[in-house]
This record gives sequence, structure tokens and C-alpha cells, in this order.
Amino acid sequence: ARQGWLDRLKAGLRKTGSSIATVFTGTRIDEALYEELEAALLMADTGVKATEHLLTDLRRRVKEAKTTDPAAVKGLLADAMADLLTPLQKPLVIGEHQPTVIMVAGVNGAGKTTSIGKLTRHLASEGASVLLAAADTFRAAAREQLAVWADRNTVEIITQQGGDPAAVSFDAVTAGKARGKDVVLVDTAGRLPTQLHLMEELRKIKRVVQKADGTAPHEVLLVIDGNTGQNALTQVKAFDDALQLTGLVITKLDGTAKGGVLCAIAMERPVPVYFIGVGEKLEDLETFNAREFSQALLS
Ligand code: GDP
Repeated sequence: ARQGWLDRLKAGLRKTGSSIATVFTGTRIDEALYEELEAALLMADTGVKATEHLLTDLRRRVKEAKTTDPAAVKGLLADAMADLLTPLQKPLVIGEHQPTVIMVAGVNGAGKTTSIGKLTRHLASEGASVLLAAADTFRAAAREQLAVWADRNTVEIITQQGGDPAAVSFDAVTAGKARGKDVVLVDTAGRLPTQLHLMEELRKIKRVVQKADGTAPHEVLLVIDGNTGQNALTQVKAFDDALQLTGLVITKLDGTAKGGVLCAIAMERPVPVYFIGVGEKLEDLETFNAREFSQALLS
């Protein structure tokens, strides 16, 4: 199974990978190679800052290794990228609090509900009891979809038709404590009826959760679609400014995502990547590994 996900990630990133890998198919290491590489990295959503960083780091490594072999240089680029991404590699730890309250945010379509379903399965497989909170009370479909994932995982769900998102969150944390759950996962809205401000709403949920349990929320996750390129970084910054994120889930890396945006995130807003999504099924959630990811991106 482990090999399977890496293959899907590699397949997903292949387009980017091959465009970067092509840079190293020549016989010489010269300025033209660095220029081509710069263009390929920018095309892969790596962003200006991370691209500059990687090129500077690569030149240093090449000088140090005194190599003239493009294939070896490609290996050094993988090393540079892995080093840049390593600070993002951090596990989601539960068990320090009961329950561990995890608030999950993300714009509609990012894969938030699916990721909550996958995360529930992952936590349950580690023996944790999970309670879901449907705090996106604005969209009936969101509630229903979360209920489906709750069913599939046979976990309880706190929901309230047309209720107040903060009130549902408060009830869920209180219920989680009373029922001795290990984890409460709070699903929040990704878009609101126009006049309301999403970030205000999310901040309110966070405040109310904290009222229900002084140490909560213990994690604030943002789910982002790996296909959205540089816009993913914009989202990370905006949600982090408003909510002080503790972790990211980056979805759809099995599809057409270019992958370089993880370098941009590492460079400009290094919020840990707890998980990556590599498919639509319940088991298609993987922990992020910087070295494997770099190698997949450059394969
Ligand atoms: P939400 O609006 O953020 O809750 O998004 P959903 O969870 O409903 O997901 C939107 C679409 O993306 C659905 O069709 C999911 O099956 C799909 N999706 C979510 N995560 C992944 C992933 O990692 N890989 C792929 N290929 N599709 C995904």
C-alpha cells in the first residue's frame, strides 16, 4: 500500500518532474542550465523566493561537490529541496489532551470534508475515539456529506440544522469531554452567505471552543487544494494570520498538481504539513515526507 501511494504521487507530479528533469538531460552544467532550471521551478509553482533560494543553494552544493555531471546535479537539487521541505515534516500528535480538539478550515472544494473522513479513519485506526462536529451549518449539503463520512467510519456526529456554528462547536467539545472521546474534529464552513465574513466566523468558533475547554483548540488545520498553485500560499497566509494555524493538509497531489508550492510554503509561511491527499478514497491520506516528496517531484 505504501508503494502504491508513492506511485500515485509520482504519477501526479510527473508533468512537473519531467519538465524539471529535462533540464538535466544535457551534458554540461552552465548558465543556460541554471536559467532553464529557474524557469522550470517557477512553472512548477515554486514561487520567486523559494526558486532563488534553491538555485543559490544548488550552486553552493555543486561547487562543493566539484561535479560536472548533470545527473549528479539533479541529485543535489533533490537534496536542497528536501532540506528546504524538512521543517514542514511534522507528525500530528494526539493524546496530550482529552479530547484533542482539532478545528479544520478550508475553502469550499479544497477537499476538507473528504480529508476529515480520511483523518477520522486514520485516527480510529490508531485506536482513538473520534467525535465529529458539523459546524458548517450554512450548507445543508456539507452537513449531509459529513454525516456520510461519520457513518462510513461509524463515529458519532454533533449536528444542528440551521444552528449557530459556534454553538455546535461548543456543544461538540462539551460532548467530547462528557463522553470521554480522544478527538473532536470540528468541520467549519468554507464559504458563507455573502454579507458575513468567513474569517470572523472562524475566529468566533475558535474563541467559543476555547470557552468550552481552556486549552482548546489544540490544532487548527487548513486543508488546501494542491492544484491551486501560488494561490495555496495566499490561502495559508490569510488563514494563518486569522487563526494561527498549526498544520496543513494538502490534497489532490495525485492529480495535476505541480507540487512546487510546498517549497513556496516552506520558504514563506512554514506551517507543518501533517498530511497529503493522494486520492478520493478513505485510505488515500499519507503523512508528508520531505525526501520522498522531493524525489517524487524530480523523478
Ligand atoms: P470540500 O468542499 O472542501 O469539503 O471538498 P470535498 O471534500 O467535498 O472534496 C471536493 C472534491 O475533491 C471531491 O470530489 C473529492 O473526492 C475530491 N478530493 C478530495 N481530496 C482529494 C485527493 O486527495 N485526491 C483527489 N484526486 N481528489 C480529492
